Amino acid sequence: MEAIGVLMMCPMNNYLDEELDKRFKLLRYWTQPKQSEFLAQQADSIRAVVGNASAGADAALIDALPKLEIVSNFSVGLDKVDLVKCKEKGVRVTNTPDVLTDDVADLAIGLMLAVLRRICECDKYVRRGAWKLGDFKLTTKFSGKRVGIIGLGRIGLAVAERAEAFDCPINYYSRSKKANTNYTYYGSVVELASNSDILVVACALTPETTHIVNREVIDALGPKGVLINIGRGPHVDEAELVSALVEGRLGGAGLDVFEKEPEVPEQLFGLENVVLLPHVGSGTVETRKAMADLSR
Ligand code: NAP
Repeated sequence: MEAIGVLMMCPMNNYLDEELDKRFKLLRYWTQPKQSEFLAQQADSIRAVVGNASAGADAALIDALPKLEIVSNFSVGLDKVDLVKCKEKGVRVTNTPDVLTDDVADLAIGLMLAVLRRICECDKYVRRGAWKLGDFKLTTKFSGKRVGIIGLGRIGLAVAERAEAFDCPINYYSRSKKANTNYTYYGSVVELASNSDILVVACALTPETTHIVNREVIDALGPKGVLINIGRGPHVDEAELVSALVEGRLGGAGLDVFEKEPEVPEQLFGLENVVLLPHVGSGTVETRKAMADLSR
């Protein structure tokens, strides 16, 4: 019997790679110099695509694979998969929810603390010997700050529960008010931002949520407000964010994700009120193993 072809879109996780390689004909797409020729040669054997937050399955890829049965997504966000095309072609789609929720929510809290308490700047201060010349400047208290969450799903809720332990009042915006919480609901992102000190992006990336954080939202958050993005880069109008930070119209930002990863606007590199992470929300050994077990 011919081996089942599994097309992996980009390097993801060694354990996942090894496990898939044991059972299937694992085809590593990124290693192919001539990808369209390669696809045409392998099209009849490929029954599964494995994607992630950086590379998924678009309409052209799905159309090029007539035997495709499943897109297994090594991430919870499905924004890199053409779901309409998958439905049309009867292709199943899976993702890795729940197992990464804790890590992403932990990191959101870490970013809040890092931005307000200037943890990264403090670390550099000690390393360069500046402490010997004087104490570090005063920073901003986190406990008790009003935390506004866009998207009270699994991760949004886990962020809320953690922030509650810091006595933070919790506000949120979703497409609908949730019956099972006492958190304060706002019917628009601008209202949410106006009533929050820290705004956290935790919703799914869809056409409706692209640039859900725009200039109006940033201005509503204001010069003392802090934006935390642990969702997806395109949730935020990055050009507007950069100009607001550079001009001091926004107090600070903690960003795990960017519009054109791994490109990060260089204007942010010199700003002390910004903490920049290389999309590591679910990036722990434990969680990536659990994600791999769901994906394989
Ligand atoms: P989830 O449980 O499906 O929650 C997504 C939330 O998005 C839902 O509560 C939904 O609320 C909200 N939403 C959808 N459309 C919306 C809209 N138009 N306006 C406002 N809210 C909207 O997913 P999750 O597990 O919490 O993950 C959330 C996202 O986090 C993922 O999609 C992914 O992009 C991102 N993520 C990032 C990392 C990282 O490494 N930084 C890791 C994992 C996940 P309503 O249905 O009530 O509107």
